[in-house]
Amino acid sequence: MRHKGPIGNQDLVKKINMEHTIRTILAHRPLSRAKIASLTGLNKMTVSSCVDLYLQKGIVAELGTTGTSRGRPPILIDIDETGGICVGVDVEINQFTVLVTDLSGKKLESEVYPLEDKDPLYFVEAITRILANLAGVHNQRRLGIVGVGVVIQGYYNHNTNIVGFSANLQEWNGFHLMEELSRRNPSLLFYVKPAPYAGAMGEIHFGRSRLVEHLVYVTSSWGMSVGVYNKGELFTGSTGTAGRLGHSTIHMNGKKCTCGNRGCWEMYASIKALYQQLEQTPQQVPFADIVDNVNRGDSQTTSAVHELGHYLGIGLVNVINAYNPGVICIGGLLGLLGQPLLNSIWGTLRESIPARFLEGLDIYCSDLGELGVAYGAVSLVLDQLPGTIIRYALLEQV
Ligand SMILES: [Zn+2]
Repeated sequence: MRHKGPIGNQDLVKKINMEHTIRTILAHRPLSRAKIASLTGLNKMTVSSCVDLYLQKGIVAELGTTGTSRGRPPILIDIDETGGICVGVDVEINQFTVLVTDLSGKKLESEVYPLEDKDPLYFVEAITRILANLAGVHNQRRLGIVGVGVVIQGYYNHNTNIVGFSANLQEWNGFHLMEELSRRNPSLLFYVKPAPYAGAMGEIHFGRSRLVEHLVYVTSSWGMSVGVYNKGELFTGSTGTAGRLGHSTIHMNGKKCTCGNRGCWEMYASIKALYQQLEQTPQQVPFADIVDNVNRGDSQTTSAVHELGHYLGIGLVNVINAYNPGVICIGGLLGLLGQPLLNSIWGTLRESIPARFLEGLDIYCSDLGELGVAYGAVSLVLDQLPGTIIRYALLEQV
């Protein structure tokens, strides 16, 4: 059956062209109009009209010339990084971290606040006050707060926008987080994701994996979880619990897990497992001391980390066979264990997987440190920045 009417219209075409243009500027900044045209495949007049609209709205700026070509050198176009702010919020068990960046993702400030009350409405009220304050401080920026990424511990149902399950913040289970945040802050855009998904996005935007297309992010700061990124998208599954691999079975009759199953990967390869192996608690020995002990070669800690790496390797055999990643990034506290952990992981992988399936695979520990998840939260905002910019640019245009 033929379409009765046109399948596109001028406004839609204009929007698509503007999206190609701004995505290209953000990905290759700074660059000339001619370069934008060659990268997008759009003709130069179309690119110029899009760029002119962005210039007129103050979203991009002309930077001067490249000075490399003969004749009249081209003028470079770049986004005005100061035109707005991104806010990333990392909610942990007892505290939450707020990271503020400019539109290029450059850190402007970060602050840690106590989560004095576990009631999720307490958090909503606290973050609402903080956002109102930030909006006032940055009110000279024309785009203001372009978005707020909120990263939670536990699962988040992306169909219903309800917190599915948080083992460590059980008061949040079933909470309509997005609805409450939007109700209290109707002019702001919120993006909510669980920590492993945001961690993966943080690596793509800020970490060592900027040009990577297939990334698996394994994180543990107590329990354990995995985020899978494939060609521009997170693999989230039907409701948002994909990557719950901390609860995949690696021992048929193994240790009993909190989830009710036996022999879960998390019981052998997480930070919780490391403390159990050392017969210590975080209250007795802060994690920074464990890292120090590894770095100075303490035999008991080194041997526990070696065993942890072995079990991580066993679970990663399944991850590699399932997802064929180009890169595996180890994040959270786990990532602070560095090379001794990586050596042990590789030892197990080489014994378990034929060499041809490991060719070209890079495994590294995240460089983003304690702000890694907060940067992941900011990356949720940056990921949607082209759409936000286009909406702003087209305001009053149609
Ligand atoms: Zn389990």
